[in-house]
Amino acid sequence: MDKIVQVAKARGFVYPGSEIYGGLANTWDYGNLGVELKNNVKKAWWKKFIQENKYNVGVDCAILMNPQTWVASGHLGGFSDPLMDCKECHERFRADKIIEDFAEKNDIALETSVDGWTNEAMQDFIKDHEIKCPSCGAHNFTEIRQFNLMFKTFQGVTEDAKNTVYLRPETAQGIFVNFKNVQRTSRKKIPFGIGQVGKSFRNEITPGNFTFRTREFEQMELEFFCEPGTDMEWFHYWRSFCKEWLLSLGIKEDEIRLRDHDQDELSFYSKGTTDIEFKFPFGWGELWGIADRTDYDLKCHQDVSGQDLTYFDDQKGEKYLPYVIEPSLGADRVVLAFLCAAYDEENIGTEEKPDVRTVFHFHPALAPVKIGVLPLSKKLNESAEKVFEQLSRQYNCEYDDRGTIGKRYRRQDEIGTPFCVTYDFDSEEDHAVTVRDRDTMQQERIKIEDLDAYFADKFKF
Ligand code: ATP
Repeated sequence: MDKIVQVAKARGFVYPGSEIYGGLANTWDYGNLGVELKNNVKKAWWKKFIQENKYNVGVDCAILMNPQTWVASGHLGGFSDPLMDCKECHERFRADKIIEDFAEKNDIALETSVDGWTNEAMQDFIKDHEIKCPSCGAHNFTEIRQFNLMFKTFQGVTEDAKNTVYLRPETAQGIFVNFKNVQRTSRKKIPFGIGQVGKSFRNEITPGNFTFRTREFEQMELEFFCEPGTDMEWFHYWRSFCKEWLLSLGIKEDEIRLRDHDQDELSFYSKGTTDIEFKFPFGWGELWGIADRTDYDLKCHQDVSGQDLTYFDDQKGEKYLPYVIEPSLGADRVVLAFLCAAYDEENIGTEEKPDVRTVFHFHPALAPVKIGVLPLSKKLNESAEKVFEQLSRQYNCEYDDRGTIGKRYRRQDEIGTPFCVTYDFDSEEDHAVTVRDRDTMQQERIKIEDLDAYFADKFKF
């Protein structure tokens, strides 16, 4: 993982946040390449989940919502983690995570998921098993207390309780509160889905593993509304759809696994939940949670708001609250997965004379820079710049006229540019350029006038 963090910073993917002030713990800024990569990931999600999908439409809702939203969703009451401090070194921990890690290391099968345990049950387990502080080894913890993960702030000038608002901890609730609006304005009939991409905030107790768990992050969520009774079918449909999306963007079968939640791990309202996990350098981690949430969310909002959120099925002539399938993906987490999956150090020399090139094998649709435009000599700049102008209308291109051509190819490999276009002295005569493929390193001669069609095919997604 250290390698990825280091490479990500050096190349301009991700920098530590507020670095010149010594940083701010677990905040990260996307750099010149990172912003392109992340935007491409979000575009690829939107294209497949919204644009090309006949069932779905999108929204972009406010981050600050009426606090009643969080009463209805349960976030004000129950969205908390069990927190505990070591009395010796003052490190802070999540009690549930300490127990899970201890059980895994010591091969102890827990009868039920720790998620459902009371503070007392966790306290007893830690005491009985003499679990030690992972930082200093002491066995001297404070009591466990529940810590709400929502960030609180104030709207307006007075900082009092009635002006308290929260930064949304998920994008989903903006969708639920707009269910009726969207259904009316889009004239969609059940089944249909509403998707959203946007920032969410959680005051995580133990953020970490680079951008895997942060306090400010982006989510790409779909709430798919369907008729009760058809929900399991749709649950399986979206479960496969999500997996296929990852594979279609270059993730390999053996890099992911689908983990179905056991009965005792399921939220009380959920009929089924599957996590798609990715094999990160630090271990398996959840990328995507896909859940059958039944009619729980709409029912809660209907109760708290007093508004009728039922759907009238005109074919059946009946009203009902639709069931919801929710595939929820973290944009930053999946960007990290694509970074890890694409990174490679390849020996393209021989065993005796190794020549290692570092390369990101990004899918062309995700690559931050699509085409490197390289004049063989600075004397060719004027004509080569015309090629850059032509291609950069469609694609994010980089123009590089510094150093030997071999070095320039390597620089593009290092940032994952799938194609380089070299303009040489022959180009003045044959009006063609050499196109080099990042992965095969093969080169072919293509007429400048044919480049648009050539690349349209290469970047199809
Ligand atoms: P975890 O157990 O890893 O904290 P979760 O089960 O709480 O995640 P959900 O509430 O299901 O996560 O959120 C849906 C998705 O949002 C997750 O699968 C993940 O990709 C992303 N996500 C959630 N919390 C964070 C975070 N703190 N940082 C980055 N991404 C996150």
